[in-house]
Amino acid sequence: MLHIEHIGIAVKSLETAVPLFEKLLNTPCYKTETVSGEQVHTAFFKTGINKIELLESTSEDGVIQKFIEKKGEGIHHIAFAVENIQEEMKRLQDAGFRLLNEIPKQGADHKLVCFLHPKDSSGVLIELCQDRND
Ligand code: ZN
Repeated sequence: MLHIEHIGIAVKSLETAVPLFEKLLNTPCYKTETVSGEQVHTAFFKTGINKIELLESTSEDGVIQKFIEKKGEGIHHIAFAVENIQEEMKRLQDAGFRLLNEIPKQGADHKLVCFLHPKDSSGVLIELCQDRND
């Protein structure tokens, strides 16, 4: 693992949360993107080498919607940058961590991503992300 790439925060409404985080971080949101496979609208902020990713559900049965219903708004996941996602997935699987997707999938912000089962990591949903080369 290289460093924390971003922290994902589940929000009910980007319309409300984006100006709030712009004020909090004193930096403009530099990108919004919809990841239809994940049923989320995302908004990104740069904080040094790290980022904050706000996540709003695009549907009533999406994972973010379910998360908010269960736990309310808040930190949803921590993402670590990795150089080679396939190698890191294999290393973690061999070490007994369960992967939520067996094949890296397309994430927001030009990344290949893989999520780990939060029960294996003290209740924290971990995302691995590697820059896409295309
Ligand atoms: Zn993320």
